[in-house]
Amino acid sequence: MTSPLFHADLTVHTQSHNYPIVITENTAIESNSMASQVASYITGQQVLIVTNETIAPIYLKALQQPLEAQFTVQVCVLPDGEQYKTQSSINQIYDVLMAAHFNRDVTLIALGGGVIGDMTGFAAASFMRGVNFIQIPTTLLSQVDSSVGGKTGINHPQGKNMIGAFWQPQMVLADMSTLKTLPARELSAGLAEVVKYALIMDAEFLLWLEHNLPAMLALDLAILGEAVKRCCQYKADVVAQDERESGVRALLNFGHTFGHVIETHEGYGNWLHGEAIAAGMVQAAELSQKIGWLTSDDVARVKRILSLANLPITPPPIEVQTAFDLMGHDKKVKHGQIRLILLKSLGEAVLTNDFDPHLLTDVLAKHAT
Ligand code: NAD
Ligand code: MG
Repeated sequence: MTSPLFHADLTVHTQSHNYPIVITENTAIESNSMASQVASYITGQQVLIVTNETIAPIYLKALQQPLEAQFTVQVCVLPDGEQYKTQSSINQIYDVLMAAHFNRDVTLIALGGGVIGDMTGFAAASFMRGVNFIQIPTTLLSQVDSSVGGKTGINHPQGKNMIGAFWQPQMVLADMSTLKTLPARELSAGLAEVVKYALIMDAEFLLWLEHNLPAMLALDLAILGEAVKRCCQYKADVVAQDERESGVRALLNFGHTFGHVIETHEGYGNWLHGEAIAAGMVQAAELSQKIGWLTSDDVARVKRILSLANLPITPPPIEVQTAFDLMGHDKKVKHGQIRLILLKSLGEAVLTNDFDPHLLTDVLAKHAT
């Protein structure tokens, strides 16, 4: 086994337990390294790998075969897509667990992007009132965001992520070499969340990204690994302070209220999550400018970095009233007043409802037709 070029270990501190995020650059397919890195976090004899039809042909064997030498391994291969992030997919996972007579000792392993991670986590949170699970995120988005922090869940036909649980994994293994097979559009979608961290917490990281984004797009795995490490550290710090999103964790939803309007209006899956968040962050920046917090140069900089990442900076046309209605279903609405995460400056975010609602209408109207 060749030694990885990039390697970093972080620890996430939560109320239930602390767990490691291992960010590394293995040759995921050729070596047994994926399996050997997760094996020590499997406590019982039973393992269920949950993945999908796209990822299974590329990575499943490299993970499954070495684990079979040590554990009783079952596999659940789900169809690929956000539209399958449903209760019926969760039932399929339970079906495999029940048929195998697996019990509390089972460890579920999520091998895939955020969709597989969220569903596997939710199945783990609910099966027998909670069993262990491990995240192996294979998209940039899931490496920097969804695999860290313990939010798990599925969609309801009337709303995204409406059913779920907080459930922390035993470990997260982010193998940067899996990004080599990720479609370019998905890589860009993940970059939206990376840019998000810079915009809400670290102006210096924004500068770093402005310099390093081309290398990331060219799949420089060490640079990608460094970016993932920074993002996971930001998220781990926030989660340690506020696991259940009663305060600072909400800031991670920057761009998401606007983005959820786009995702819901366009139908799940047509706009990628990261693409919707990119356009949503531009809207949030525009509102921040109207309030007087950002300059027009700041907003231009937000648009430039997102364009550099090949992301959309304009939402699709959505009627103002429709947008308001869709925001009403968002979990960030409290007492009928829309609270949004806005930027005080580049690198500093606030959750606030203290703005003239007409300014929000103006931002929505700008893109209504
Ligand atoms: P995804 O899981 O749908 O993956 C994107 C696509 O890439 C899929 O087609 C997948 O099969 C494919 N793919 C994944 N890894 C691959 C690889 N290495 N090579 C080739 N193809 C690969 O999408 P995503 O962007 O990873 O995740 C989006 C989901 O994450 C949404 O459902 C969102 O709600 C959720 N999310 C959750 C949290 C959280 O805190 N739990 C945070 C952010 C997003
Ligand atoms: Mg997100």
